[in-house]
Amino acid sequence: MPDLGVIWTQITSNALVQFSVRLVVVYVFFLYLAMVFWTVRDAQQRTENPIMPYLAGLMVVVLNLLGLFLYLIVRPRETLAEAYERQLAEESLLAEAEQRVVCPTCHERVQEDYVLCPTCRTKLKRMCPSCAKLIRPEWSICPYCAKDFDERDWTVHAGGRVAASGKAATATASREPTERITTT
Ligand SMILES: [Zn+2]
Ligand SMILES: [Zn+2]
Repeated sequence: MPDLGVIWTQITSNALVQFSVRLVVVYVFFLYLAMVFWTVRDAQQRTENPIMPYLAGLMVVVLNLLGLFLYLIVRPRETLAEAYERQLAEESLLAEAEQRVVCPTCHERVQEDYVLCPTCRTKLKRMCPSCAKLIRPEWSICPYCAKDFDERDWTVHAGGRVAASGKAATATASREPTERITTT
């Protein structure tokens, strides 16, 4: 029966074994550093809070692999860049949906600046009597010249001039609001 203590001393005194052990220690140490560094960087990309990334890094310093797992569980799902991109995409989708205007009568697609529907001839827009810009029939104030309309002023005809006498009846009759498709 060989002496285990002697064999152990022989192994540990071997230069190659000593070198290998040092190599493994250095490797693990750099892995550890990289883990902490990665956590801080990753947290910085996910939060605008300046302290949180360092607290997450400290957690990995103290708890090591367990800290890294904990961080992966509680970290924000999206990076700031991803959240920003998603927000942009949602906004452009919303803008696109707003541009899809249809005729309220025949539901054909019409352009935002059409005065009437080319398919069924429904009146879609009227001219502001004050600045002659195209506005929607249901608006009670002109967004271009800020003229506040009274119901009596809704006498608009080709050329955009105001008639001398108010004709409220014709105005209300042609007040057909344009419909909008709302995409969900
Ligand atoms: Zn139409
Ligand atoms: Zn106007």
